[in-house]
Amino acid sequence: MSVLRFKALESVYTRRPLEVEAPSDKISDFYASNVFGKKAMREFLPDEVYKLVMEAIEKGIQLDRKIADHVAMGMKSWAMTKGVTHYTHWFQPLTGTTAEKHDSFFQPTLDGAALEVFDGGQLVQQEPDASSFPSGGIRNTFEARGYTAWDPTSAAFIMGKTLCIPTIFVSYTGEALDHKAPLLKALHAMDKAAVDVCQYFDKNVTKVTATLGWEQEYFLVDAALYTARPDLMLTGRTVFGHSSAKDQQLEDHYFGSIPERVNAFMRDFEVESLKLGIPVKTRHNEVAPNQFECAPIFEETNLAVDHNLLLMDVMEKVARKHNFRVLFHEKPFAGINGSGKHNNWSMATNTGKNLLSPGKTPKKNLQFLTFFVNTIKAVHEHADLLRASIAHAGNDHRLGANEAPPAIISAFIGSQLDAVLNELEEKVHTGKMSPDEKTELKLNIGKIPEILLDNTDRNRTSPFAFTGNKFEFRAVGSSQNCAGAMMVLNTIVANQLTDFKIEVDKIIEKGVDKEEAILQVLRRYIIESKNVRFEGNGYSDAWVKEAEKRGLSNIKTTPQALDAYVSKKSIELFKRFDIHSEREIKARHDIYLEAYSKKIQIESRVMGDLALNQIIPTAIEYQNLLINNVKGLKEIFSASEFKTLAEVQIATIKEVSEHISAIKTGVEAMIEARKKANKVEGARAHAIAYCEKVVPFFETIRYHVDKLELLVDDEYWPLPKYRELLFNR
Ligand code: ADP
Ligand code: MG
Repeated sequence: MSVLRFKALESVYTRRPLEVEAPSDKISDFYASNVFGKKAMREFLPDEVYKLVMEAIEKGIQLDRKIADHVAMGMKSWAMTKGVTHYTHWFQPLTGTTAEKHDSFFQPTLDGAALEVFDGGQLVQQEPDASSFPSGGIRNTFEARGYTAWDPTSAAFIMGKTLCIPTIFVSYTGEALDHKAPLLKALHAMDKAAVDVCQYFDKNVTKVTATLGWEQEYFLVDAALYTARPDLMLTGRTVFGHSSAKDQQLEDHYFGSIPERVNAFMRDFEVESLKLGIPVKTRHNEVAPNQFECAPIFEETNLAVDHNLLLMDVMEKVARKHNFRVLFHEKPFAGINGSGKHNNWSMATNTGKNLLSPGKTPKKNLQFLTFFVNTIKAVHEHADLLRASIAHAGNDHRLGANEAPPAIISAFIGSQLDAVLNELEEKVHTGKMSPDEKTELKLNIGKIPEILLDNTDRNRTSPFAFTGNKFEFRAVGSSQNCAGAMMVLNTIVANQLTDFKIEVDKIIEKGVDKEEAILQVLRRYIIESKNVRFEGNGYSDAWVKEAEKRGLSNIKTTPQALDAYVSKKSIELFKRFDIHSEREIKARHDIYLEAYSKKIQIESRVMGDLALNQIIPTAIEYQNLLINNVKGLKEIFSASEFKTLAEVQIATIKEVSEHISAIKTGVEAMIEARKKANKVEGARAHAIAYCEKVVPFFETIRYHVDKLELLVDDEYWPLPKYRELLFNR
């Protein structure tokens, strides 16, 4: 075994699980203790200020500077009781992670003493010199200025010794440079459109919030083994590695007992998350070895998104303490399952009702059907945009790879609701309905069971599945910021609900009664969106064929999928709700394309480096061993004996040579392809060149390296193998 690999494995075997102590056995004792939420605000803000802040949060109004000063003062006092020394505006640039720039509260005074200072100005707005964040050309370097602005709807929190203030990040010319700003706009549009539609059913509804409950999948790898894998370190995935003789075939990992060291890690990051007010609730093993999942209780979408990003950050930090590295990449290991991040989504009213949960009465169920059918219609109309929202290099490995939903967007609703929609399609008509017809329909609508949860058989192969009282968007990648997918989903639903209202009102104006008008429009939507509904096995080849017949797209790669962001239809949609200007969405499109190209470029370089500097030299070393062996045999034995005795060795020498030469030629050709791709102008063409001309080499080079892994003496092999990465914990 190579020295590096040996040392790495040796250190794994000497690890003991860290003893973890929660601050208290009762979570309620420390839950949200690091959050400047309602409880802390009530304690640290004057009553009046507290009330104004609450009102501003609820109605989305801006706080004036004086009030902000009071809030800042309260925040600072609270934070200082917890030993905080610095503050930062915490934001979500388009790089995919979060960003922070820490400033100290400390300020020297003229008389040589010092003060702790933090005022409303510093709370509300900051100008991080963030000129190197991607802006898609929106900010020229000479005006390299963007600013962050406080989002009071997501509470400030403490990480380590720093007070973190959730903010949006925008350019001085007003364009969003982050994920949060457009998400907030989409949520606002959703709220307004949904409230308007709710008025048909319940005049008390004044606010609708989109809810999100994500499920985060991830892998854990021992830190020492991770460090011995440059590909994991630099790209988050293994670019080489023969599959382990045993991996997930026995299905013994899923929901199995959680290994001790992993359990200690989970407990530890859960405690840290709970202190941050992240309501983590479930944890379990996933399908692949060393793959796990964690999910919180759902929350308002903006907050849920922030919490997901925070959790990922906390997990990374806590993992290091336990000598683990956490992998969020969508496909860290070939041949076994990758990781996703299911986005459970619904809409909730201020009256405490889940709009995607059927009720007890025909009226409530008509409301349910309205939101249900409008969502399906929205998905049908904007399937390509939804597909774009989950497009990025990592997810290309997963979508359609028989472990994750295909790249075809379809909706699964379960046999019961399928039957309900079919019935509506059949029975409702545009002429005036007879009283009998109406009564019958009402009766049937009333029969939708209140609890569908147990009845919707869980079709795991659908990218967008109704699971009883929410939709589950399953194609989101594990490393992605949910904000992208949630921005799109909420925008398309807002759009659909707005159209729906206009259409229903038109029919009502003609003298048709409200319920009938609603049913008529719903029926049309059911018919128009029928193609997107699919109840069967989404992983099957038959579905790929069927979807093609239905005219549904199956866009397999990121550069192509991203096109939908800048289609005429999408640009109109974003403009309609003031979510993105054309310039802004085009800039964003460029940024996503560039991110794709860069990721592929890095993977390709890592692959080339490893192949040339580690794999080929190792293979040659082993080959020399064989050559010496053959030479020795020749010296000792007679020519005829030698022929039989050295046969295997000579064949192996040849085989190794063939692989070496295939790898070398592959890498050289890949480098040439990269050079050519680099010269291609335009973000889209550049990304497509990487996708079509560089990526194909990955598979062929890998094939030969993985073959060598099986041939070369284990003593020499430099990289920790899959069996070591996946089963040490
Ligand atoms: P699984 O999909 O693993 O079987 P569940 O269906 O129990 O798990 O729940 C998955 C996630 O769905 C949880 O995070 C939960 O909080 C979330 N969820 C439940 N109800 C809603 C809702 N109304 N809106 C958004 N998310 C929800
Ligand atoms: Mg789920």
